[in-house]
Amino acid sequence: MAALRFLSRKGLGASYKVLRTFYVHAIRSLIDYSAICLPNLAPPVRASLEVIQNNALRIILHAPMWTRLVNLRLEGELPSLHGRVTLRATAVVLQLVQRRPELAVSVLLKRLLSRPPDLAPSNDWARGLVAALHRLNTAASICREPDAPCAGYHDPPPWTPPPFRFVFPGEGRVRNCVPALLRQRALARVEALQRWSSTDYYTDGSVTANEAAGAAFVCGNEVVSWRLTPGASVLQTELTAILGALRKIKDNGGTIFIHWVPGHVGLQGNERADQAAKDACSLPNITFHLPDSPRTILAPIVKATWQWTREEHLLLTTEASRSATWYGRATGCVPLPLLPHTPNYVLVRLRRLRLGFHCYDQLANTNPSPCHHCQDQEPSPLHHYILRCPVTHPLRANLNRGFTWTHIDEIDAPSIIANTPLQTLLTTVEKYPPPR
Ligand SMILES: [Zn+2]
Repeated sequence: MAALRFLSRKGLGASYKVLRTFYVHAIRSLIDYSAICLPNLAPPVRASLEVIQNNALRIILHAPMWTRLVNLRLEGELPSLHGRVTLRATAVVLQLVQRRPELAVSVLLKRLLSRPPDLAPSNDWARGLVAALHRLNTAASICREPDAPCAGYHDPPPWTPPPFRFVFPGEGRVRNCVPALLRQRALARVEALQRWSSTDYYTDGSVTANEAAGAAFVCGNEVVSWRLTPGASVLQTELTAILGALRKIKDNGGTIFIHWVPGHVGLQGNERADQAAKDACSLPNITFHLPDSPRTILAPIVKATWQWTREEHLLLTTEASRSATWYGRATGCVPLPLLPHTPNYVLVRLRRLRLGFHCYDQLANTNPSPCHHCQDQEPSPLHHYILRCPVTHPLRANLNRGFTWTHIDEIDAPSIIANTPLQTLLTTVEKYPPPR
């Protein structure tokens, strides 16, 4: 933590991104390593662990001690450690049970997870972990037996030729190529493959924003598609499409080549497969069931962790917490996007407006310091800065004409931040720093 504090010093140039990365990889990773032992912690001990992240968030966002924690978690995109510990512990259990089932610890975990939730052990080290996995409804998916090979399958002897060959283009980084160039190269490769006796199958998979998944292959006029189990990963959809095509061609004999071609560059067969996979996502029934992948098991935990943070914010807002309401109104609970070309001190000042914490004078109940820009003295220097300070008039340029400054209700200050274009906010805080 001392290293993080040192990096955040003025003049060192460590931005939000650098500080957050340092925290995640150098500090939080230690908690990740020990996650499997942590779900058992008593609530007071767990709270003291949470203090580590709270302090880190204050350093990363340059916020004082009295800033509302839930605002910091939303702005810093770091939900509470409790959720993180559950996620990492589940990932470790999943890996142990599914990949190393022969280990004694895997056998024990599997036995505990197979019991009904109310029979969970009372004094075992895994008690908290097993209870958490039952609460998240992941116990059954973790204990699932591994996929059995197809009936009659046996490993081929090493001297038999492989059933198919993968061909990857050796053209360097695809991301650095323009689509027209990718298209040209792909067309050249496809043309080089085509023989009078060859048949081309194009395959593609698709995952929508609401986690529906589809896969399809196209061969000439034939289009075959499946709607897959919701929550499938992109890799699973792609592999299902390839599997579908392989099953179709397995009896034809001949050599099979699997070529990678770039998507969305106008290759006709590929575009058709892409569209068929997208259409399959909205089929009424699931036509291809996939077993739960680690992603399918872990994604709901990530979602639940964020849900807890948002619910905490909502609860505070309904309880009329001034700072939670401010953050919600000023930002819509959406974190600031990364602005790589903006100086760090400007972003720190902008975050000060978004988080809306009180100035030190207000907390200390002393007379507030006069405004740095106009020397006015008001009980709430932040409200003065946003609503009445003459130097920040660009922030109020979009408000309706015909009002006087004194008529604006105090509660409107966060709405002004929400409704001012980002560039105006940045130039204003760069020229005229807000009070702290
Ligand atoms: Zn002023």
